[in-house]
Amino acid sequence: MPSLEAFARDKLAGLERRDLRRALVPTRRLPGGYVERQGRRLLSVSCNDYLGLTHHPAVIEAAVRANREFGTGAGAARLVTGHSPLVAELEDRLAAFKGAEAALVFSSGYMANVGTIPALVGEGDLILIDERAHACLWSGARMSRARVESFRHNDMVDLAARLEGSPGAHTLIVTEGVFSMDGDIAPLDRIGDLAERHGAWTLLDDAHGLGVVGGGRGAAALFSGARVDVQMGTLSKALASVGGYVCGSRAVIDLLANRARTFVYSTGLPPASAAAALAALDIAERDADLVARPLARARRFAKALHLPEPQSAVVPIVLGRPSTALAAQAVLEEEGFLVAAIRPPTVAEGTSRLRFAFTATIPDSEVDRLATATRHILGTLKEERRCPPSS
Ligand SMILES: *Cc1c(COP(=O)(O)O)cnc(C)c1O
Repeated sequence: MPSLEAFARDKLAGLERRDLRRALVPTRRLPGGYVERQGRRLLSVSCNDYLGLTHHPAVIEAAVRANREFGTGAGAARLVTGHSPLVAELEDRLAAFKGAEAALVFSSGYMANVGTIPALVGEGDLILIDERAHACLWSGARMSRARVESFRHNDMVDLAARLEGSPGAHTLIVTEGVFSMDGDIAPLDRIGDLAERHGAWTLLDDAHGLGVVGGGRGAAALFSGARVDVQMGTLSKALASVGGYVCGSRAVIDLLANRARTFVYSTGLPPASAAAALAALDIAERDADLVARPLARARRFAKALHLPEPQSAVVPIVLGRPSTALAAQAVLEEEGFLVAAIRPPTVAEGTSRLRFAFTATIPDSEVDRLATATRHILGTLKEERRCPPSS
C-alpha cells in the first residue's frame, strides 16, 4: 500500500498533467473591485461581490459595530444557545424581500443546500436536478439517499419526460435561478407548471440572482406567479458577507430548523456577518441604479464582442481545453484584469472557459478595454486553429 504522502503526490501529478491542478494565491482585495496579487494591481472580473458592497463604508461600519456590541462569534449552535437579534432581523428582512413567509440562515450557502435537501427528501423519493447545478446541490442530493436523476440543462422536454417516468414517493426538482458558470436563467414558469401538474416540489438556488436580476429580488421575481417552494441563496455574493439562507413557508422553515443537520449541529452565524448582510440588503433595496449596474456592464461587454445578450452579470466564453483557458487568463492578467479560468470538474470536460462576473464597481472604460483585450485573444485563437503549431 502506498503511503498517504505518495498517494497525494501521485494524485497531484495527475491533475498537473491534465492542466487541472489549482493553486491558492495570496490576494488582497482593495476598494473599487481591485485586488493586489504578487505585487500587481488587477481589476477583478471574477469576484461575486456584484454590488461592490464588501468595501462600502456603511456595511463595514455595521459589522464593526456588531462585533463591539455582540462579540465576534455565536458561541454555539442556535438551538442550544439561541440567536443574536441581528440574525432574527436578517431572517425577517430576507423573507420579506423574497416574498416568503419565513427564512432560515445557515453558516454558508454550501451548508444551506447540503442541509436542506436531505431534510426534505430521502429514501424512496426522487430528485430531478439540472445537470449544470452547483456542486453543493449535488452533494445535498447524494446525501439525501433519494434516487437522483439529472435532466439536460434547462431542457423542459427532458424534465417532463422524467416526471412521467417512475416517480418517487415525493419528487423534488432542483435547479439554479442564474446558473453560476453559464449566466443563463432557468425557465421557472415552466418548471413551476410541470411541478404543479406532477405534484412535485421545487428548490431554487439563486446565489447569483439576488441583488442582480429581478430588480435585485432574484430570478423568481422575473417570473411573477411562478411556483417555487423553496428559494435558497447566499449572503456571500451581492450581500457582501458570508452565510446562506433558505426561504419558504413557515412550516418548511420550521422543519429545516429541526431537521437540517448543517443547521442543527453547526454554530450560528457571527453577529457581524448578519449585520453586514443587513446593511448590504438595505442598500440593495434602496439603490435601484446600483442593482442595475452589473447587468448593464455585462451587456456592454457582450455587445462589444457580438456575444448573445446576457441575462445576468455572468458571461462565459467557452474555450475548450484547460490549457487554453489558463493561457487566456494569463494574457488578461498582463492587461491588468483578474478573470479566472474555470476548468473541470467545475464545468464539463471540453468546456473550460473564461468566466466574467461583472460588478457595479467596474468602470465602463475598463469594460471596453477588457472587451478589446478579449477580442484580441479570440482572434489569436482563431488564427492558431487555422494554422496549428507543427508540434
Ligand atoms: C456560491 C454558490 C453557492 C455556495 O454559497 P457559499 O455561501 O459561497 O457557500 C451555492 N450555490 C451556488 C449556485 C453558488 O454559486
